[in-house]
Amino acid sequence: MADTLDTIFRSLDACRQDVAHLQTLLTARKALGPENGGQGESAKALCIADWLAAQGVSDLVRLDSPDSRVESGLRPNVLARLPGTGKHTLWLFAHMDVVPPGPADAWTSDPWFARSEGDFVYGRGVEDNQQAIASMLLLAKAVQAMKASPPLHLGLVFMADEETGSAHGLSHILDTASHFFSPDDLYVVPDAGSPRGDVIEVAEKSQIWFRIRITGQQCHASTPHKGRNALVAGAEMVLLCHELLPTAFAARDELFSPPFSTFTPSKHEANVPSVNVVPGNDTFYLDCRLLPQVSAEEVRGKVLELAATVADKRNVSVEVDIVQQQAASAIPVDSPVVTRLQAAITRVYGVQARPVGIGGATVAALLRQRGLHAAVWSCLENTCHQPDERSSVTATIRDAQVFAHLLMSPVHA
Ligand SMILES: [Zn+2]
Repeated sequence: MADTLDTIFRSLDACRQDVAHLQTLLTARKALGPENGGQGESAKALCIADWLAAQGVSDLVRLDSPDSRVESGLRPNVLARLPGTGKHTLWLFAHMDVVPPGPADAWTSDPWFARSEGDFVYGRGVEDNQQAIASMLLLAKAVQAMKASPPLHLGLVFMADEETGSAHGLSHILDTASHFFSPDDLYVVPDAGSPRGDVIEVAEKSQIWFRIRITGQQCHASTPHKGRNALVAGAEMVLLCHELLPTAFAARDELFSPPFSTFTPSKHEANVPSVNVVPGNDTFYLDCRLLPQVSAEEVRGKVLELAATVADKRNVSVEVDIVQQQAASAIPVDSPVVTRLQAAITRVYGVQARPVGIGGATVAALLRQRGLHAAVWSCLENTCHQPDERSSVTATIRDAQVFAHLLMSPVHA
């Protein structure tokens, strides 16, 4: 098998032109979801399916999700399968949608045109998540060119709607087509990583977002004693959360970065339009990312306790609601997908990759919730969602080589 792997590596090394070409095609197909004023991923999905068909990949399944907000009436998901000789499948997942480019003058060139300069391609979406799409398509091309089938089947999943919640993307796929996915398969989501390729994400903190609404009494600012200032009470609540929650829940876990839970007052809603009005209402939000050993219920209890303190002291009412909640997700650091990735990364990138946990949320959580051991890995510049987003052509090819290594290593189970 070593010879075959070397052949695949060489054929991928010869694909630099393909990377630039694919990035040009994909970037021009503005895949903005309707929340961002776009028409979704249909044009991009067609481009991907056409490219795979042109390579001779015939097993293409569409798992579209109805969405009346876009002209086509659907959000496309494309699943491509290439046969292997064994029982197991290597599944790779990439999302087609992108985020808006933001102010045009922050960009050196047109964000919807993939500009090449040296080893980099610049444009909206080139890194997030077209680097993965390109790596997956190159791998499919290389496998099609092989004379023999690899030991593992290859499954490529191109998803809609990752940037705005995945309801029309991976959630829809897992709800409607779960029979494709077995717990014995390997799952890699190439949508986060480090510039050296030495970080494998295996765990995510739980998330809990609180909305905290303070109600006092509005009055004229020249006679503040006649009202009850909700902004002052809200400010007190912000500081109590900020100062007391980290000490109340001080557990540490060095797998995670940062290695502790975070409690962050974030969004604040507009209150009164005039300077001369004492606000009777104040609303802010608290974003909490909790280590797996920290109980969300206990955090909620502590926030309610702080709310009661402020209500009492300031003679206001303080309502606490949960507006979003997601459980922590983790796979063992010695899962087959992790150890196999480590071996592949060492071979291709020459580094020892370490498993880490993060505070962010990726679609890997959706897979893990269904008992599918998903690891998140890629070699990235980390310019996602920024102006002048860029992707390395070399990393795109090497990522494809890492996936080829996984695909060509038989599973002994
Ligand atoms: Zn992404």
